[in-house]
Amino acid sequence: MNSEEFRKRGKEMVDYVADYMDSIDGRRVTPAIEPGYLRTLLPTSAPAKGEDWTAIMEDVEKKIMPGVTHWQHPRFHAYFPAGNSYPSILGDLLSGGIGCIGFSWAASPACTELETIVLDWMGKMVGLPQDFLAFSDGSKGGGVIQTSASECVFVSLLAARAHMIRQLKKQHPFVEEGVLLSKLMAYCSKEAHSCAEKAAMMAFVKLRILEPDENYSLRGETLRQAMEEDHAMGLVPFYVETTLGTTSCCSFDNLAEIGPVCDEFGVWLHVDGAYGGNSFICPELRGPMRGIEFASSFNFNPNKFMLTNFDCSVMWVKDRFRLTQALVVDPLYLQHSYSEKSIDYRHWGIPLSRRFRALKLWFVIRSYGVEGLQKYIREHCRLAKRFEAHVRRDPRFEVCAPVHLGLVCFRLRGPNTINQKMLTSINASGKLHMVPASLNDKYVIRFCVCAESATEDDIDLAWEIIEQFASDMLAITQLEQKDNKKMAEAEENKENKANEEEASEDMVQVLDRKNKRSLRYKRSFFVRMVSDPKIYNPKIVKSLPGVGRARRHTTTDYAEDNVPMQSPTINGDLSDGEDSKSRTLCKTTSDISDRISKLMWVLTTTCEKESQTELKRTDVAKPKPWEAGDYVFMCDGPA
Ligand code: PLP
Repeated sequence: MNSEEFRKRGKEMVDYVADYMDSIDGRRVTPAIEPGYLRTLLPTSAPAKGEDWTAIMEDVEKKIMPGVTHWQHPRFHAYFPAGNSYPSILGDLLSGGIGCIGFSWAASPACTELETIVLDWMGKMVGLPQDFLAFSDGSKGGGVIQTSASECVFVSLLAARAHMIRQLKKQHPFVEEGVLLSKLMAYCSKEAHSCAEKAAMMAFVKLRILEPDENYSLRGETLRQAMEEDHAMGLVPFYVETTLGTTSCCSFDNLAEIGPVCDEFGVWLHVDGAYGGNSFICPELRGPMRGIEFASSFNFNPNKFMLTNFDCSVMWVKDRFRLTQALVVDPLYLQHSYSEKSIDYRHWGIPLSRRFRALKLWFVIRSYGVEGLQKYIREHCRLAKRFEAHVRRDPRFEVCAPVHLGLVCFRLRGPNTINQKMLTSINASGKLHMVPASLNDKYVIRFCVCAESATEDDIDLAWEIIEQFASDMLAITQLEQKDNKKMAEAEENKENKANEEEASEDMVQVLDRKNKRSLRYKRSFFVRMVSDPKIYNPKIVKSLPGVGRARRHTTTDYAEDNVPMQSPTINGDLSDGEDSKSRTLCKTTSDISDRISKLMWVLTTTCEKESQTELKRTDVAKPKPWEAGDYVFMCDGPA
């Protein structure tokens, strides 16, 4: 492609993206395709000769778009927002065009210098103490852009580990580093993102996961107790990971209490504000930052809640030398004569090569201004409150955690299973997308305001859809309960009759029949299989055994080898606690094979008993949203 064609195609691409954004609400939020759908549409090998641009773009619409989840859709309410905006897209385009690799100052001075300046701007925007800023008198701190929050957590843990090992080595010069490593203990809350666990695993250190309080906030006293216990056992606390805006429910750990404890024990305090940290650009939302002065490092993701597209996670450290000491390697070919006077960001993270990510941030901040960004965040918080008010007005629902920012955790009052079923059905409809979380073993549904220009109408429409599904779900559950009662009565009658007959029979025959009956009894249970990836996909539901012949639809979540990705409840007892336990992933080979055989049993029994339970959807009060394949559950009556 030459520059002339690039101009033409580039303009077309900008039009394509603008058209996509303008018409996005005409698409399903989540795709209705099966795993492997693209393999059947694309050639198995790369083309030998270059192809026509028009043909490539045609394939985008025909083959790629049907498999896209539309994160910018006004009815996408899952996870956290995937930050995006036109200024950010254009900044990224320019970064791609310049195409520099800024691993050191010398490798592309503007790339490094703009990053340092923009990170200082942002540090001030969120009210960080001066010692985190690069251009502050006497400061040893500074900011850097990392790829993700997970990476920020990992590199801060590596820095803390290196620092503590150096300290211990001074005290115990003849003890091997490996032995010292085995004594280190890191801490986080149960509500911390799983990246904390992953970081500890990769760094080969112990991690103690602590219980938060009733508001899902880690408290200073809990941390102190754990550290004192560990210290008494000869372990060495060295790192605490806290969260401002947890993934499940956007709760905030109590930094004001935790900070002094970390200070006392001399441990590295990292603060992960992946989503919540963005909100601190609004001064009135800075309450949870109290205690930030105790932190050694802090990160948040503008690619979540500051209109900047992925990847862009900003991180500050109070002592940049502690960070770089853990990560410096300096081969001759990367050295340059200005290294004393400049920052080389390759020492601040894992990769050597780095994109010019500061450009998009610079474009975003300059185009919106701090006030524009504050307005956007405040609007998302206001809309979340509007959604919360809808939930609170309907007595069938409950709000499960305080609503601080743009996230509302809610559920239907009642068992976890009904919430699982409702969410599965909503997602399968493609009308709305949300994901679940577990709070104190309760299955809750997370509703996050995500779209940049979300409106009150979007929130009201989402609530209408949820209410409609809830009404249908409750009506169907009532029918199920009636069905169950009838079946239980029939079973009891059968048993009584059999007992009477047994009384007049030969003992051997009686025992034989009892054995058979108990086997059948074991096979009689309800199975709920609710899973994440499959929730987008009614077609898979239809392709499972027994589906389609009756008004009964089944979903499960198979990997290619038929291992359920989320294990089903294989148990007659459907209490919520048992249910949530059984949804943990299969961990060992024997566990997996046990689950495969149980699953095969479930499927066989279901096929055998196909006609036992039939949902009469015509009996349901408001059957409108139900399409064949939408309703996802498996129901098996007694044999
Ligand atoms: N920390 C928190 C609190 C999060 O909510 C998330 C993701 O949502 C992460 C870390 C992981 O973020 P990333 O994908 O940038 O690694």
